[in-house]
Amino acid sequence: MPVVDTIFGLFDSRGEEAYFGEHVSQLEHALQSAYLAERDGSPDSLIAAALLHDIGHLVHGLAEDVADQDQDGLHEDAGATWLTPHFGPDVIRPIHLHVAAKRFLCAVEPEYLKGLSPASALSLRLQGGPMSEAEVAQFASDAHHSSAVRLRRWDDMAKVPGLVVPKLEHYRKYLESTLRPQGR
Ligand code: FE
Repeated sequence: MPVVDTIFGLFDSRGEEAYFGEHVSQLEHALQSAYLAERDGSPDSLIAAALLHDIGHLVHGLAEDVADQDQDGLHEDAGATWLTPHFGPDVIRPIHLHVAAKRFLCAVEPEYLKGLSPASALSLRLQGGPMSEAEVAQFASDAHHSSAVRLRRWDDMAKVPGLVVPKLEHYRKYLESTLRPQGR
């Protein structure tokens, strides 16, 4: 089965599960993230990354509890690992870094830290809290760090119950245009 169909199948079978501690489903959260990326005029790769950033939750079938969920801090690893055979670094790296981007923003923007949702504030602690100065410097040296920060901001906003956005099929073109050649 083509990988885009496999991905859509994951959203079909698992997308109705709750997005941890928020009032939207996994599918709604993914669609709202991708919508915000597209609305901001992002490249195809970053729209694809926004849609797929939490796929690690769907491929691993973890429990719904927010604390348990983020304790392992591994959903970004799981997602990046699962996607790596199919997509290039412009898609994978922002996904892999989206949790680090939250810890980065918490360190460099006091207002960001104050604005976290209760669930996100709880998981921050389990993710290691705001970055240290050395971690900030290291993160900022990554070629994909600003894409990861953009993704993180859409991630934070993509929690609006009932928001009407385009359906999954609308984003097929962004996945297909960013697939590695052998994945097409
Ligand atoms: Fe997310």
